[in-house]
Order: sequence, then C-alpha cells, then structure tokens
Amino acid sequence: MKYYIQVLLLTFYFAAANAQETPNRSFDQEKDLYATPKLVVGVVVDQMRYDYITRFWNHYGDEGFKKLVSEGFNLRNNHFNYVPTYTGPGHASVYTGAAPGTHGIIGNNWYNKFEKEYVYCVEDASVEPVGTMDEAGKMSPHRLITTTVADENRLHTQMRGKTIGIALKDRGAVLPAGHSANAAYWFHGKGEGKWITSSFYTNQLPGWVKSFNSSGKADSYLKPWTTLANIDSYIESGVDINDFEGGFSGKADTGFPYDLQALKHQNGGYDIIKVTPYGNSLTTDFAIAAIDGEQLGKDNDTDFLTVSYSSTDYIGHNFGVNSKEIQDVYLRLDLELARLLKNLDEKVGKGNYTLFLTSDHGGVHVPAYLETVNIPSGYFEFDELKNDLNNFLKGKYPKENLVENISNNQIFFNYDEVLKMDVSSEELQQEIAHFLLQYDKINRVFTRSQLQSSSYSEKIASTVENGFNQKRSGDVVMVLEPSVISYSRTGSTHGSGNNYDTHAPLIFYGKGIKPGNSLERTEIVDIAPTISALLGIPFPNGATGRPLHMVFEK
Ligand code: ZN
Ligand code: ZN
Repeated sequence: MKYYIQVLLLTFYFAAANAQETPNRSFDQEKDLYATPKLVVGVVVDQMRYDYITRFWNHYGDEGFKKLVSEGFNLRNNHFNYVPTYTGPGHASVYTGAAPGTHGIIGNNWYNKFEKEYVYCVEDASVEPVGTMDEAGKMSPHRLITTTVADENRLHTQMRGKTIGIALKDRGAVLPAGHSANAAYWFHGKGEGKWITSSFYTNQLPGWVKSFNSSGKADSYLKPWTTLANIDSYIESGVDINDFEGGFSGKADTGFPYDLQALKHQNGGYDIIKVTPYGNSLTTDFAIAAIDGEQLGKDNDTDFLTVSYSSTDYIGHNFGVNSKEIQDVYLRLDLELARLLKNLDEKVGKGNYTLFLTSDHGGVHVPAYLETVNIPSGYFEFDELKNDLNNFLKGKYPKENLVENISNNQIFFNYDEVLKMDVSSEELQQEIAHFLLQYDKINRVFTRSQLQSSSYSEKIASTVENGFNQKRSGDVVMVLEPSVISYSRTGSTHGSGNNYDTHAPLIFYGKGIKPGNSLERTEIVDIAPTISALLGIPFPNGATGRPLHMVFEK
C-alpha cells in the first residue's frame, strides 16, 4: 500500500513538472522565436522632428502617418544618443545600432588628421560612377567600420535575402544598405536628372533603373509647387513670407507658388526637385519601381528595402522648421507614405512585411526667429575662433599654428608641432578648454583626455562621449549653448545634442509588431537590434542598443 502511494505521488509529481514545461499553448517557433517577414522596409525621413507627427496631425489622412501610429507601435520618446546629429552619422546609427564612436561615421564630412584633408563620409576614389560620368557616382560605404542589420541579414540568408538602398542623397542610400548590399541608388540632378550608383555594387544599371531614368518621371516634376490644401488652413506654421527663409535664386520672395520650370536654371537644374516635396514623390516612384524590378518580398528569404526621404531636410535648411513650406512637405509626405503602404500591401501583401519609420536627426527653430520671441539663441562663427586660438597659443608658446583644423565643433591639434614641444597634449587641451569657455556662446568643453577616461550619464556629456571616435575625432570638443548654431541667418540646421535635434519619431509597423505606444525613453541605436531580434538574426557587429521587446506581438 505504501509503495502504491509513493508511485501515485511520483506520478502526480511528474505530471505537474511536465505541465510546467509545456505551456498551455503550443510553442510556435515562427512566432515565438522570430518572425520572417518577406520584406523589411526602413523609412528614414531626413530632418524629421518628433513633433511633426503631433503638430500636423489634424491635417493627415487615414492611410499614412495615422495608419502607422494606430496600427503600429509608436515610441514617443526616442532620441539620438550622440553628437553630431547629421545625416551621415544618423543613417549609419539607425542601421548599425551604434553611435559614431563605434561605427566611425563621425560627420558628413570630417578632417582626416592622418591624411590632412577633408573627407566626405561616402566618397570613394577607388570606385567608378555607374549611370553617369559625374564624380557624384563615386560612392561606397567603405568608411563605415561596422555592419548594418541588412548586412547581417545577407550573411544569415547566405546572401539570398536582397538589400536595396534608395535616397536622393548618396549617404542616405549607401550607409543604410551597408557593405553587402545588392545596390544603393541615389539621384543625380544637375543637367541629368537620373538615379545612379557606383561600381562598388555593379558595373551597369539594371534594366528597370534604365527604363525609370528614361521614363520622363523627373521632368514631370518640373512644375509649379503650390500648397496641397488652402494655405489659410496651414495655421500650424508661421507666415509664408518672412525674414527667416532662404528661398530660391531668381525669385524675390519666399512665398508660394514656386515655378520649378522657370527657376531650375538658376537652382542647379534637376537639383531643384530635391528642395520641393516632388523629391519625395520621385523617391516613392523609384522605391515602387525597385519593389517590382527586384521582385522584393517575393520569396521566403527576408529582403531589405531602405528608403530615405531627403526633401524634408533640403526644405528645412532652406525655409526653416516653422515654415509653410515645411508644413506642406509633411502633408504631402503623408500621401507618399500612404502610396508606399498601399503598394506594399498589393505587391508583398498586408501582414507579410515589417516597416519602421524614423529620422536621421531633428532640426532647430531658426535662431533669428527665436530672437524675435525672446528665446535664448544665436549664431557662432568658427572661422574667427581659429585665428583667436592660434594667436592666444602663439603668445603662450613660441609656435605658429598649433591648431590645425576646427570642424564639427572639434579642435584638431597640429601634432607635427605639438610633439616637438615641451608641453604635453593634456596640458595643451586644458589651456584651450579654459580659453574657449571665455566665449559667450560656448557652453561646455570636453578634452580628449576626459573623453578617453570618463563615462558620462548626463545627457549632453554622454552624447559627446558616444560621438567621440578615438581615432577619427579631434582633441577638444565644444558644445554651443542651446539654439546657437554656426549657420546662415535663414533656414534651420541640426547637429547638437539638444532635444530639438535628438528627439526623433520611431514607429514599427506590420509583421510581428503589436499596436501600441510608449513614453519610455528609447534610443536610435535600439532600432537595428530590434529588427535583428524580430528576424532572429545576429545583431550588427558593433551594435550597442537593446531590442525594444515592447513592440513585439509575442
Ligand atoms: Zn539629414
Ligand atoms: Zn540637414
């Protein structure tokens, strides 16, 4: 009897243990371990501030931003975690899941202290233009040190999953697509008006690109730019004609409409399209042609399509973040997103693709405008600073030109001279830091020695640290006061670690993503690890971000 009870208890015990190991629902590896969308679409909107979602909300239709927000997961407190917040670093960080200190794209252009020359982030003298004879085609991702999530997908799928990168700007196409992309295409304006690539990817344009280029699409956008809706309904932006806008050569004021056909000769030929919403339309047209031409999302291996909408940035730089022109480009971008989503639903199938939308940096209110409403702001001139600094150092040490270069808010020493002196680099850094803090508009200064030995948690300091690349960055880094820029008195720019530059939209939508929203702080470097985790593929090799599990269905 005793033996019987023991067996009975053991039976219960094993039954209970078994029940714990086997959940009520059955394990579904496709849903529980990873998702396999047929296509991942990454959308970066150049210079999009988070508040463009809320500010223009009442004007948006149901099929663009509102659809992404209501059916997708909206991260409302998403930030860049480094400086400088520029286009090259932005696109690299979104897709590598790392900051410039790690991926190496420390600016759009930077001073290469070893070669003693400026370099552009994606220029590559070793490749040939394809689709044009112009130097504009000599681009590749060779200065990007780490892998993108699209690279990891290529490796994971034995190169079967395709990657295509598209943007008007070369850096917006090349950096996201990564090192192993099938192709990246960017738009060459001037007298040509064509989508081009480089021999890094291929030796000739595929048929679908050639037919697109000869279709007359670009020409069809050389037409007047008028507002989408009655301009009187644009109450979320400033007056149309004001002193804070750049405008186009050949037009006396900055008021609608703009006749592109008439203005193109004085504004870079086909390049004028970039500075209007039609540049975004041309980007959607080309993205749709790529989905067809490359048969993206048709087989079982996940493909990547990276699309960057650049016109929003050109318009922000020209007219400022508070302009009627900015309001118009966002109302029209809403329609472009709707068109892209509709096309993806038709070609790849609703529920078969995952899309995310973010930006590469935000943008500042035009300081000249802020001055009129008493908000602290202003302008700073770096050219004068270099002379002042060299004069100060010459008085202290008997040496000329100890500062070799000032760029991207960084001071680069002339090490040929510094190493011959009795003073250490650390002392020189300190001297310069003290000197710089005398300037009204310089808010903070960080030295190379500090950045190499400290770990910061405070926001601005950590953005400097994350953007600092030991090898490529300078010796002293300056931080200007909020809303102080080194720029013309018209138009907006970006580059700082302040919220207007760091707060970026981030919405995930589609396969594997649940609807919702969160105010938890997330960072731009979280995007690539999130996509990696969704797909069950390795994280990009330098990624520092974390997967945002709250957006997943399971
Ligand atoms: Zn940008
Ligand atoms: Zn910009």
